[in-house]
Amino acid sequence: MLKLETKYEKNSTDLVEMLEGHVYINGAHLSVFTYIIDGVLIDTSSETLLDGFTNWIKNYKVDQVFITHNHEDHTGGAAWIDKNLCIPIYIHPMSVEVCKDLEQTPTYRQITWGRRGAFNAQPFSKQMTSQKYTWEIIETPGHTRDHLSFYCVEEKILFSGDLFVLAHTKAILSTENMQDTLASLRKVLTYDFEEVYCCHAGYLKNGREMLQEKIRYLEQLQEESKVLYNQKLPIAEITQKLFPKKYAIEDFSNGEWASTHIIRSLIKDTPTKSS
Ligand SMILES: [Zn+2]
Repeated sequence: MLKLETKYEKNSTDLVEMLEGHVYINGAHLSVFTYIIDGVLIDTSSETLLDGFTNWIKNYKVDQVFITHNHEDHTGGAAWIDKNLCIPIYIHPMSVEVCKDLEQTPTYRQITWGRRGAFNAQPFSKQMTSQKYTWEIIETPGHTRDHLSFYCVEEKILFSGDLFVLAHTKAILSTENMQDTLASLRKVLTYDFEEVYCCHAGYLKNGREMLQEKIRYLEQLQEESKVLYNQKLPIAEITQKLFPKKYAIEDFSNGEWASTHIIRSLIKDTPTKSS
């Protein structure tokens, strides 16, 4: 029987209130951050973390919600907000319709994060405003097609959703496109910032450097993969060579998360044409 436990940690920087929700499941640990800045709630945690999340946001005056992408650990509280607070929820235009229905996800994700309920969202404009700030809404696909990052013009800080997560990524979802991730990382670096708020790594004072390190890591991995691929090695063998260790998430997710998806994507995917 899977046993799920949750824990919450509140924190803040000069500008941002942060809640990290932790999920412990049979020895595994995952966590997700949500942020509040200038009346803007950035992402809505997961359904399994709803109690702590709703208790937390009740302490603040939130007047709009920005969602980085339609994954259940970012949209889990959106249905509650839609029902209980009369505030607009913004998401990538391509996800507005999808979010009107209950999300379908594999069982292991439903156990960990719960199911994202149906909610009404509105499409972002390219630029948004909050009480005192201007926000650039940056298309940053890769992790998902609908992934967005938010740049606060006045404070020069970046909210990067799941674009970063880890500099040295060891496993990704089968649906991720690493060519797009690389392009998105390069794209956000054209903006002027040092600090980054990541939805899984939290507040990164030297965020810019960490994003640069992720680009370096992925470029090197891509080069090594392509050399081996040109020597006619199959993807499975290249993965074995470059990622000799197998990660627990691979079995737990029945292969939806795996190192081999990184290698395949770096070798075979092409960048998605932006609309
Ligand atoms: Zn995600």
